[in-house]
Amino acid sequence: MNESQAREAICGIGASIFNRGLTAGSSGNISVRVSDGWLMTPTNASLGRLDPARLSKLSDDGRLVSGDAPTKESFLHRVMYEERSDTGAVVHLHSTHSVAVSCLAEIDPDDVLPPVTAYYVMRVGKLPLVPYFKPGDMALAEAVRGFAGKHHAVLLANHGPVVAGSSLDAAVNAIEELEETAKLFLLLRGAKTRFLTPEQVRELL
Ligand SMILES: [Zn+2]
Repeated sequence: MNESQAREAICGIGASIFNRGLTAGSSGNISVRVSDGWLMTPTNASLGRLDPARLSKLSDDGRLVSGDAPTKESFLHRVMYEERSDTGAVVHLHSTHSVAVSCLAEIDPDDVLPPVTAYYVMRVGKLPLVPYFKPGDMALAEAVRGFAGKHHAVLLANHGPVVAGSSLDAAVNAIEELEETAKLFLLLRGAKTRFLTPEQVRELL
């Protein structure tokens, strides 16, 4: 994907995410690796109304080259690229069901969601919970860095998911699978449920 295709793809996927209610207001951000740096969604921009020409273009060393200033959460993206060399795109959303799960008192911080479906296991796998930090606290970046080497998907406590993928499609498909699984998990709470067995999970990985 060249840079102009990447710009169009970010805006198209941003609109699709926003129009389906997967992130609200000006929340959520998307980045894509290009040959000479990154494209990132700008600060205070709604994913529903992105302008390809105004996306933030960052150089390899993170300087703003053109476009509007990048999202204040750009550090979440940077640590994913730094720790995972095969990353082509990163998506972060404040998607309702994932955020709801991230607020539950009794979840396993090592692996937040159970293996509800095969697609969840294949696209997300193990999902660690990153402890809560206030917005803008750089300690959050370091906490995410601690997980990023081993996990392409993490859930920020009382905040939302961050997912890296080899491509924009891969990252979006995985974060949507995560959100759907969070929704299923909440629907199933209190009901006697048959999750995939450890053997069935092993078979998929
Ligand atoms: Zn956020």
